[in-house]
Amino acid sequence: MKEKILIVEDEKPIAEILKYNLEKEGYGVVVAYDGEEALDKAYRELPHLIILDIMLPKMDGFTVCKKLREHLTVPVIMLTAKEEEVDKVLGLELGADDYITKPFSTRELVARIKANLRRTKVFNSSDEGAPKVLKFEDLVIDLSKYEVKRGNETINLTNREFELLKYLACKKGQVFSRETLLEDVWGYEYYGDSRTVDVTIRRLREKIERDPSNPKLILTKRGVGYYFNK
Ligand code: CA
Repeated sequence: MKEKILIVEDEKPIAEILKYNLEKEGYGVVVAYDGEEALDKAYRELPHLIILDIMLPKMDGFTVCKKLREHLTVPVIMLTAKEEEVDKVLGLELGADDYITKPFSTRELVARIKANLRRTKVFNSSDEGAPKVLKFEDLVIDLSKYEVKRGNETINLTNREFELLKYLACKKGQVFSRETLLEDVWGYEYYGDSRTVDVTIRRLREKIERDPSNPKLILTKRGVGYYFNK
């Protein structure tokens, strides 16, 4: 089955070129030209991945991403045009999985798409024989159900937050550098910087730690990286 990609981009020539190139790579492609159409098509077509521009008519990409995340866990790659937008993608709790800065090459975009799709697949197939439920006091991470709970309360994580948590929690006590986390959790040689890891760790802590400023689960090894408490 062809994997389906939703491209959200109001500039028709860019959308057309992207569509052409991704179809050539063997993907099924659906295009939306504004924010409202994007939401509509995301729910109707249920794509495997969404490429989402930020400056859009009717509803901007930030809002679209937030709304998508209310119901869908599909990987989202944001298209950013300026440094301020990158900061916003990283800083807000949008739930975007990745971003790529304009102008970018098709080769670069396809590499990102593949990495994000691969990650989702690895994630969904979940390793046979590996423990499916991890417990840390009253925090329960259910790997097969893709669910994190504290007591009876469900904690909503994005794909990336969940995978980072899973990665660290499955290797308790082992310290990982930001670079290793980028490579293993984000799944490719990252072009950006390690702020991405710090931001995701911070969000995770805000969601799973009782006191995010004094974390007990995900700890920092100063000058080295992060690890999950034994
Ligand atoms: Ca645009």
